[in-house]
Amino acid sequence: MNAPGQQLRAYVEYLRDMGIYDIYRRDDPAVLLPESLRQALAAKSVGNPSVGNPQVAASPDAAPVRPATAAPAARTLQPAPQQAPPLRAQTQISPHFVAPMPKPVSFDALVPLSALTIPSAERAAALAAVRAEIGECTRCALAYAGRHTIVFGDGDPNARLMFVGEGPGADEDASGVPFVGKAGQLLNNMIAAMGLNREDVYIANIVKCRPPANRTPEYVEATTCSQFLIQQIDIVRPQVIVALGATAATYLLGVKQSLASLRGVWHSARGAKVAVTYHPAFLLREPRQKGEAWKDLQRVMAELGLAPPARPSTSA
Ligand code: URA
Repeated sequence: MNAPGQQLRAYVEYLRDMGIYDIYRRDDPAVLLPESLRQALAAKSVGNPSVGNPQVAASPDAAPVRPATAAPAARTLQPAPQQAPPLRAQTQISPHFVAPMPKPVSFDALVPLSALTIPSAERAAALAAVRAEIGECTRCALAYAGRHTIVFGDGDPNARLMFVGEGPGADEDASGVPFVGKAGQLLNNMIAAMGLNREDVYIANIVKCRPPANRTPEYVEATTCSQFLIQQIDIVRPQVIVALGATAATYLLGVKQSLASLRGVWHSARGAKVAVTYHPAFLLREPRQKGEAWKDLQRVMAELGLAPPARPSTSA
């Protein structure tokens, strides 16, 4: 599906499937739509006054615009007939309106955890089956928002420790591997400081497609994608999950709370103990918080019985 026109049609059909028939342009559609779609939309708007006017719906059943007609000359003092009201009132929504986020549902509440575990030797194949089920996913709007590669997950299918981030950035979208950009390099260092290699852990994200301009995933995007992350966790069965940042914590645990209130205590999800810590991207902006994140990781190490690697001797 390469032609912008085809992409646009698929996007509109996707919205219709969701029950959305009235489509408005915002002031800054760049945040919502990739360049190719915006160009296609602009081309379609030529000669169509409804496109580009945020107050006029572009739906096929919108009230027709009536040409202004002169009222017949009044012979009596009867009031002039009033113009018929539009067939459907147009609701004006401020482009700055932000819908409140629905209450998230924890991964535990979404689907019961099976008592059966996948045998170790079969976990890689089970993960591959989940990846195949995802296919070239178009289940949410991120499929139409400039995504190049679905970033499934990476690491040891039998890992005792799993990290869950928010969603791919540009580097991950290009490579198909989670946490390979600057935040990923910091995550690698954090893993090394725990005495582990990246290949020893499993890494995934709340959403598998890059949100445009690296914005936070929307509720519907996160909850649409949850089904696959739940399957990944249930296959790997990690002992500990580290939620990197507020988005991971919100959706794994089904709570919308400050990171400060979630850190320092154990939570649980899918039979694993869950620790919440700062996202590496936040630590790149606020390096002074690295010590706090290290405290979180030390608690995880104690839980897993990991000793920190010996510091290289400086006396030699
Ligand atoms: N940030 C994330 O949350 N996940 C990635 O994979 C990369 C950056």
